[in-house]
Amino acid sequence: PPIIVWMRRDLRLHDHTALFEASRSGRPVIPVFICDETVQALGAAPKWRLEQGLSCFAHSLEEAGSRLTLRLGNAAIVLDRLIEETGATDVYWQRAYDPERVAQDTRIKADLTTRGIHARSFSGAVLHEPMQIKTGQGGDYKVYSAFRRAVWQRPIVPAMLAKPDLTAPETWPDSDRLADWGLGRGMKRGGAIVAQHTLVGEKAALDRLSEFLESRLAGYAGDRDVPAQPATSRLSAHLTLGEISVARCWTLAWQALETGNPGAETFLKELLWREFAGYLLWHSPHMGTEVWRPDWQGFHWNEDRHDPKFIAWTQGRTGVELVDAGMREMYVTGVMHNRVRMIVASYLTKHLRMHWRLGQDWFAECLTDWDVASNAMGWQWVAGCGPDASPYFRVFNPQTQQVKFDGKGAYINHWLAEHRGTSAHKDALSYFEAIPESWNLSPEAAYPAPIVSLAEGRTAALAAYDDWKSQK
Ligand code: FAD
Repeated sequence: PPIIVWMRRDLRLHDHTALFEASRSGRPVIPVFICDETVQALGAAPKWRLEQGLSCFAHSLEEAGSRLTLRLGNAAIVLDRLIEETGATDVYWQRAYDPERVAQDTRIKADLTTRGIHARSFSGAVLHEPMQIKTGQGGDYKVYSAFRRAVWQRPIVPAMLAKPDLTAPETWPDSDRLADWGLGRGMKRGGAIVAQHTLVGEKAALDRLSEFLESRLAGYAGDRDVPAQPATSRLSAHLTLGEISVARCWTLAWQALETGNPGAETFLKELLWREFAGYLLWHSPHMGTEVWRPDWQGFHWNEDRHDPKFIAWTQGRTGVELVDAGMREMYVTGVMHNRVRMIVASYLTKHLRMHWRLGQDWFAECLTDWDVASNAMGWQWVAGCGPDASPYFRVFNPQTQQVKFDGKGAYINHWLAEHRGTSAHKDALSYFEAIPESWNLSPEAAYPAPIVSLAEGRTAALAAYDDWKSQK
């Protein structure tokens, strides 16, 4: 009888434990992707990116003599139907660590097992499973550097695995048509523009990793904070959808470390930030919705989504150049440089004193690399209420950051076309063509005046913090 392999955020053939184990059995394998409630709830850009990824992965499976069966609906019900239709006796998948998936997977595994179906889950999305990493006292790590030291030399699970040899079933179950799901429909600005900046699929991810290791890793430590430089790996969306395994990135970067590559250590440490985010969310499932540090309950942030200041921030017209450039970069490309993510988040939560959850939600709408754990950790870290957070009074000054990391203005001039003589720039122009008219932005218009003075915003943020502390 066939084995169903339930694919989720792991759209790859290499290093895929569930597919590998299923193929090793020599039995027919039916890879399935289910468009369930969690998929339907995704923001516009991640959903659009998922559609691209699914299309590419379905193609890779066909090249490997297999097929991706697509089904819409509640995962438990869909799996039941497929088991009935195909006579499968086993369902395999790779584990996820966010609270929604953990709850769903636990339920499904118990149901299937009760009915005599062999339900097996495997690790594969992380280097170290969160439940396995404990402090000396048996607790969980709350500080990144201690977590990093604990896992630095630890053997990773699983290692790199070969592409599986997939046996087809005698008949394939019916599949939905991907286009009918309309996953890209919410990308009003047109996927075409984001697509110019997006590479999709396992092959692209593997090529990107090789190219990065060969040509850019050596300069990574020095240049990774400069937003105008293509110095980072840009693997995040591939990692988010599992088009490449973190095990492969880790193993090859570790080899580079051993041969003395000067950027390898920094890159490995960044991979561990992703790991730490997943670890934290598993241990603190409230991280995406509530302040992580209990002593931050009761701190007041403005939560009005209709506040004009918040809207100006989302639309990249706060009048603060580095902030606006970042917000526009995200809108146009689906990603934003890491340093700029920190700056726009600090500006929103401190200068504008808007709630970090609003920013987190807007990122979830716009990022093609959206990952529930990294996004939540990033926002809470910047806002000051998160694990190992930068202290609240550390307010990034966007102007000094600009001088430091974009001294020649290459990044801001790239994204802000208004009266900069850069309106001929393709990205800037396509940006202006793509944005809704209601945003009132155009290359001919004057660049907006600051909605809040940086000095006043900072003073007000620190005063609010002092007030709250004194009332506690
Ligand atoms: P590289 O510098 O090449 O790093 C390699 C990989 O390490 C990345 O692909 C990523 O998987 C991981 N990584 C690097 N930095 C971090 C970090 N600070 N936290 C977690 N993982 C990291 N990353 C996401 O993948 N999805 C998100 O939704 C997300 N939201 C964020 C929100 C905020 C407010 C902040 C400050 C950061 C967020 N990040 C998020 C982390 C980081 O900005 C991106 O992972 C990084 O910019 C991706 O670019 P890259 O692949 O070129 O990174």
